[in-house]
Formats: sequence, C-alpha cells, structure tokens
Amino acid sequence: MIEPTDVAICVADDELPKSPSGGTPANPPIVQTSTFTFPTFEDLLRGLSTESRSHVYSRGLNPTVEALERKLARLERGEACKCFGSGMAAISAVMLGLLEAGDHVLFVNHTYGPTLQLAEHLRRFGIEHDLLLELEPEAAEAALRPNTRLVWLESPGTMMMRVLDIDAVAAVARDRGILTCIDNSWATPLYQKPLAMGVDIAVHTASKYLGGHSDVIAGAVVTTAERMEQIFYRAFLLNGGVLGPVDAWLLLRGLRTLPVRMRQHEADALRVAEFLRSHPAVRRVHYPAFADDPDLVARQLTGLSGLLSFELAQDDFGSVSRVIDRMKVARIGVSWGGVESLVISPNRGTNAEALDLQGIPPGLIRLSVGLEGAGLLIDDLDSALSALG
Ligand SMILES: *Cc1c(COP(=O)(O)O)cnc(C)c1O
Repeated sequence: MIEPTDVAICVADDELPKSPSGGTPANPPIVQTSTFTFPTFEDLLRGLSTESRSHVYSRGLNPTVEALERKLARLERGEACKCFGSGMAAISAVMLGLLEAGDHVLFVNHTYGPTLQLAEHLRRFGIEHDLLLELEPEAAEAALRPNTRLVWLESPGTMMMRVLDIDAVAAVARDRGILTCIDNSWATPLYQKPLAMGVDIAVHTASKYLGGHSDVIAGAVVTTAERMEQIFYRAFLLNGGVLGPVDAWLLLRGLRTLPVRMRQHEADALRVAEFLRSHPAVRRVHYPAFADDPDLVARQLTGLSGLLSFELAQDDFGSVSRVIDRMKVARIGVSWGGVESLVISPNRGTNAEALDLQGIPPGLIRLSVGLEGAGLLIDDLDSALSALG
C-alpha cells in the first residue's frame, strides 16, 4: 500500500514559478547555471557565509536539485535531503562526513559490494569495520565495540533480500549513542520508512527505482537538518559529487510515475516469484514475500519492489551462465529498478571462496523484474530453465 500523501508528493506538489502572463508551467524549470551573481560584493559575502542555505555556486545549492531534495525529504519523513552525483557519492559523504580515525563501523546484513569496498579503503584512514550476517538484534549488540560510531543496515539486503528487524537494531545502537544509517534503495521511501523506525540516516541510490528508466546516476541522503549541516560542510561541498540540474529534472520526472511503477513492479514480481517457486529446477526463491518471519515483513514493508533472486538446484557456474544466456526478455546487465528487466549472478566462476564467506549460494541468479509484463517474463524464464534439461 502506498500512502496517498506520498502519491501527491511524487506526482504533484511542485512549487512552480508563474510566468509573467499568469500561466504556470506543468514542469519545474532546469536552472542550468554554475554560479549565481549578486548586486553587491557584500551580498555575495553574505551568501558565502551561509552556503548551505544560499544560492552561490551549484556545487552547493541549485534550485532544480533542491526541488528534488524537498520531495525526497518529505517522502522519507526526514528534515533534510541532499542529492549527489551517485549513490556511492551519497554513501561516501555519510562516512567521510561523520566518521573519524579510531571509529568502527558495523555493517549488518548483506551489503552492497562497493559500500564494503569503500569501508575497506577507509582502513587506511584508521576506520575499522565488521560485517555481521546474523540478523538477530542480540547478535548486533554483541558485535558492537566501544568505538563503534555507526551501524550500517541494508534491509532487504543485497542479493539475498533478507529482512532484519530495523526497529530493534536501531534501538540497540541508540541505547549506546551510536548512529544508524540504512541503505533504503530496495524498498524506496514509498514502501519503507526507516526514519520513522528510529534510524538516523537513510541513503538511496536514485539510479535504480527513483529514476526508474536506467538513464540517470544519482544518490541521496536524508537525515536531520543538524546532521545534514555536518555532512554538507565536511563532505558534500568538499567531495564535490554533486548532481547536475538536468539529471535532477529527470529524477523529478521519474518520481511522477514512481507510485504506479512500484505497484506494477510488485504485482509482476509476485507472479514471477510464485512461478519460480513452483519450478523444479529452482531450489529456492529469495523475496520478502516468502520470508521466514512474515510478521516482521508486514510491519516494516508496506509493499515489495521487483528485485528478487533465486537459486538453481543445479548450482554450478555453467548452469548459471546457461540460464542467464538463454533469457531474451530480461537483458544481461548490472543495476536494477528500471522499466527493463535485468538479470545477473554474483557467481563469476572465479569467486567461489568469496561467495562462500558471504553466505551467497553459487547457484544464485538475481532478477530485476521490469515492466514488460509478468507473462512474458515467466515464458522467458520457463524456456531458459528448460536449458538445464
Ligand atoms: C546501485 C546501488 C548503490 C550505489 O548507487 P550508484 O548510484 O550506482 O552509485 C548503493 N546501494 C545499493 C543497494 C545499490 O543497488
């Protein structure tokens, strides 16, 4: 279920400037400018001293990007949002803006690969981390260290789509004054509201469902105004991974159809997941609709997106690549959340050990269910799976 307020935020609710003749454009303007000029030098200096609130230079604030930020903040029920040139720029800004040498980060659940690679690089700056794949709140509590500064969550998690108890893990961290951040990309703010469950920061890749058409790379951070001020001055403005006004405009357009797209992704993914679950060549389907704890899923997720994975019973690399290669409707590629279905496997034929360490089965195939129609995709999967004989 999608809240009517959220539909209104996505589809309408733009603050649009009237034209001199009184008409209002149906779409927001693209303010394609690098700099803003001022009547006096003193006015410019005033702007520079409050750069997190003033239009001075588009590496800071840009009106088209701000229109998007206002919408995302409202959808996540947060005070402030900043958008970035990619999801990874957003994730980097949270870590570089809030952590310092000597800190420890605890990642709970399967985590997006490049996020963990970034954490690995941060070791050079004296920031340590652990990855915890046990999802019970007690396990998170036990894995905290005296210097843990940030608990990083993904739910549903990368590849395996496992759901953790966000509320309970956030409470464990909060009791010790530890910050929590969640990568909320899978569910989108329409289907999961982690800030309302006590999480401090939500990050998104906007390159997936928010944009929705595989034509933009972007990211976002949503948190309190006070914490955002720190992220703005310590990371956003200095890393410089900003979103351009044209890409912000494409995202505003993407948001207009986010509610209808998500409803359709969900309906189609459910049909595809049911088909896969009944297929003899498939050992298991990983999708929150079939989670071990349906009450937890119902409490946290008001809907499901279209990203799922399944395990082949015949789980060697040859079988995995044969099935992927036989698919015609779903195209082979990284990323997800667009109108076109995409298929991939974490199994590269050379990384058995790494997969085993992360508890990812070798026969896993990940499918982003696009909007071609569930019937077409089911036929596609049926013929691809018949390649296994
Ligand atoms: C793609 C992705 C990211 C990174 O976003 P980019 O826009 O590609 O930088 C982060 N988290 C998750 C879960 C993703 O799938």
